[in-house]
Amino acid sequence: MEPLISTHAEAAQTWTPEGVTITQRFQALVNAIVIVYTADAGADGVHYAMSCLGCDLGRRTGPDQGLLTQDGARELANSHAAQCRALLKPLPNRPDDEAARRILRTTLDHMRRTDRDIDAHLTNFHLDRPALQRPTSWIKAELEHLARTDPDFLTAEPRDYDDTSLRYVIRRPAPTVERALVRQ
Ligand SMILES: [Zn+2]
Repeated sequence: MEPLISTHAEAAQTWTPEGVTITQRFQALVNAIVIVYTADAGADGVHYAMSCLGCDLGRRTGPDQGLLTQDGARELANSHAAQCRALLKPLPNRPDDEAARRILRTTLDHMRRTDRDIDAHLTNFHLDRPALQRPTSWIKAELEHLARTDPDFLTAEPRDYDDTSLRYVIRRPAPTVERALVRQ
């Protein structure tokens, strides 16, 4: 009988969460795997991220804070793999829709600013992708649903230069109800 840990590590070598294209995997010092991946972000362009399936470190921007190219993500993944001693964690199960919705909402809540409106891009969810395990169409549908049901939080409007995708804007809380919103 194969020891569990090796079966588990083998699964990580081919694991491909829905909605994500994995372009490279690095073996960390013990048995964790570091993945380099991209996901369809429509008009936001092709950008990459890296994620360690051992210690959960994830990056979608480089040292200059710019969105990662494939080379940039590979470099970060490679250098992380060369120093990470974490054991591989169990691969995340695909969350149900409610749990997936909470993942999106948590990211949006973290992005929200009290002093200004802020654009939400599909690339903002790149780090959520391995846990989210949803196609881009699902994310867009959720954002559009949120914009319809909670327009004080998020709005979706056509872009000036591209009528095939929407611009999502996280609205700053209205000053009078700020406290109530923060408590939610
Ligand atoms: Zn790690």
